[in-house]
Order: sequence, then structure tokens, then C-alpha cells
Amino acid sequence: MGRLFGTDGVRGVLNVEMTPQLALRLGSAIGTYLGAGSQVLVGRDARSGGEMLVSALAAGLMSMGVRVWNAGMLPTPALQYAVRELGYDGGVMVTASHNPPEYNGIKVIAADGIEVPRSVEAEIEAIFFENRVRPVDWRGLAGGVRREEKALEKYVDGIVGIVDKDRIASRNYSVLVDPANSVGALAAPLVLRRLGVKTYTLNGHIDPGFPGREPEPTTSSLMPSARVAVALGVNLGVGFDGDADRAIFIDEKGRIHWGDRSGTLLAAYLAEKHRDYPRRIYTGVSSSMLVEEYLKPRGIQVVWMKVGSVDISRRLVEEKGLCGFEENGGFMNPAHQPVRDGSATLALMLELMSEEHLPASALFNQLPKYYPVKTKIPMSREKALEALERVREAYKGERMITIDGVKIIGEDYWVLVRPSGTEPVLRIMAEAKSREKVERIVEEVKKIVLGGAR
Ligand code: MG
Repeated sequence: MGRLFGTDGVRGVLNVEMTPQLALRLGSAIGTYLGAGSQVLVGRDARSGGEMLVSALAAGLMSMGVRVWNAGMLPTPALQYAVRELGYDGGVMVTASHNPPEYNGIKVIAADGIEVPRSVEAEIEAIFFENRVRPVDWRGLAGGVRREEKALEKYVDGIVGIVDKDRIASRNYSVLVDPANSVGALAAPLVLRRLGVKTYTLNGHIDPGFPGREPEPTTSSLMPSARVAVALGVNLGVGFDGDADRAIFIDEKGRIHWGDRSGTLLAAYLAEKHRDYPRRIYTGVSSSMLVEEYLKPRGIQVVWMKVGSVDISRRLVEEKGLCGFEENGGFMNPAHQPVRDGSATLALMLELMSEEHLPASALFNQLPKYYPVKTKIPMSREKALEALERVREAYKGERMITIDGVKIIGEDYWVLVRPSGTEPVLRIMAEAKSREKVERIVEEVKKIVLGGAR
């Protein structure tokens, strides 16, 4: 049977793969799964085709007797929070997150606010491909689409409610927000205003063309924001992805810090803040070993997981962990909601800065210093799996994590070799305590991957 859902919902180029016809059929399948009479909240990011896909989805859902409420444009985490807090039976978000502008997509949210697990996606796919939809009788239609006006406000209230807003306000911070011309612009400035923070925005107007930068926060796409942050003399800068569930921070010196670095600082802070919570955090294997080096001596256990935020969220909830995060800027704080949330992460970072009374750069300087290298080798999936076997063999006896690719952990270095889930390449990520070491390790691994000996 075919598959619709990738690692993070259904994605495709608008009007080529991601068509209104697909959205209509998918809406019908989701509606059949949820059942007639259920209440579903739909929303979208700023992408082109958002309104069109929401309309088609809503038509499919309504045809199955679902009551549809439209929250309009908002960040994915705002929709997730509203689904849980306002008691919806589910949610559907029209977004392609960090993909290039020509993409759009659809994410299904469960009643608890977390993306549905793979088993539910498979059930929806089965209904879709076997055409097992169950339209209701003409008397069973639940009327038109209703507006949900409270979602964004509820979300902002939720974030402001879990941080020490008086202490943050007392520091007179200023922050530069770069929401990539998308929905982060609708929430983060409202949160910051409530926290008494002076707010500047770059790429702060909504524009589906993403004229300011690509929707993915990367070191290069955030470079202009880093320069502007320094020029304005702000205390902190933040760049969101297209649906504002990921936040990448820029310190007051203009240095961009990846999500495993901010995640580590925030995890250590949460352990202090919530002393009655289990001291256990979850992160993907693509995160740096600095996570363990920093958190282990503080008595915090690090659970390494496959790359993918949904599994991290669900495990975090099951095991009542402290928090979870990803190297790409996703951070999950269950005290607010156990899913990635850009604006909530920003508020927490400001609380950390205000509690420690330290500039962002000083906080990040507390982390162990590593030199990173990231590279990729074009390779079919089959060849990549063979290459992984060779790597595993070559480093037998070393500490290794093999739940997703092969991660080798030495005294002063680590290297992860992992086939990409979306393109025919083998990714190599490595870090070491010196530049020479990391270059040597990557060369060594490359040789093994391409068929040579260690
Ligand atoms: Mg995203």
C-alpha cells in the first residue's frame, strides 16, 4: 500500500503533488478516522495555497459529518496548544514547516496536541487508498465552518503563564525576532510585549514568497539577522522556521547557536527549576555529545533517540521526562506542552538569562567547546546501508549508538554516519575537541564509507 505521510506529515509542491484534490481526499480520510460529530480545529501557516488547502480539507472533513473550526493563520504549536486546551478531538495544520516556498503540506494533530503517531497515520492512509471513506447522510452535515478566535490568545497566555514575567521585565531586554515572513510573526511579538521586552523584527511581515530568507533557519540564512542583532545591540536574537515550532538563537555578539546547544542550557535550567521532575531528557542522535558532557555531571540522564520529533514528544509524555530537544531548534517543555514550540522556547531562554543575570554569550560559553564538521556523500540507500556495516565493523569495541545510523563516541570526538531520510545521500556529522582531530576523523570515516579500511 502507498504512503502519504513522511517523517513530518504529508508534504509536496503546491498544485503539483499537494493539490486541493489531495487535500479533499485526505480531509475525507481524516474525517472518517475521527468520525461524524467530532470537532476539529484547522489552521495554516503563511504559505501560498494555505487558504485553498484549508478549504478543500474542510470540505472533506465536513462531508464526513465533522464539525470544523478554522483558527486561520497561526504557528503550528499554537494550533497544537489550542487543540488540547480548548478540548478539540483533533487538529489539522496546513504547513510545510521549513521546506522551500513552493511546498505545502498537512499535519494531523491528536486530541492531546501532539502529532498523531505512525499507527494513526497508517490507519488514515489505509482509509485513503482503499477508499473506505464514510460520507454522512445529507441530514448529518454539521453546518458550515466556524471561526475559532481564541486560539492565538490562549497560546500566548499559556506561554506567559509559565515564566517569571516580572523578573524578565525587570531586565529591560531587547530582542530581534526573525520569523522568516511567516506565522512566528503573529505570536512571538505578542509574547515579548507581555514580558516587557523591547521587540524588533526582521522579515516580520507575512509574505508567502518568503522574500527575506528561506523558511529553514540555517547558519547562512540567519547571517543577516545575526548582523542586524549586533548593529541594534539587542540582548538576544531568534530565528524561527516557517511554522514557528523551531527556534535558533543568536547571542548578543552575533553568534548563531544550534538547537542542541540551547537545548542543553535549557534542560539544565529546567532541572533546577523543577526539582521534583525526573532528571531525564530526550534528544536525537544528531545532537552533539556536549549534551551528555554538560548534563551528566549535573545528574541528568540523556536518552538518545532516533531523529524525529514526534517519537521524542510521545516518549517524553509516556516516561514523564523533564524535556526533549533536537539539534535543529525544536525544544519540548512539558510544563507548557510536550511538542516543539518556538515562542515558548524563546520565553524560557529569556527566563534563563534573567535568572542567571548573564548575557546570552556568557551562557553559551559555559558549554564544552567542540569543532563541528558536517558533510554528505551521494549514495543510494542500499549502498549507504552497506557503508554503515563497514563503519560499525571498523569501530568495533568503541562506544556506539546504532538506533539511527551509526554514532561512534570517543574520548574527545564523536561522529554520526546516517543515511538521509529524504534524499540519496549518506550524511556524516562529527565534532571533536580540536580542529585537526575532527578533520582526521571525518577523513577516516569517509575512507571506510567509500570502501577502504580504517
Ligand atoms: Mg517546523
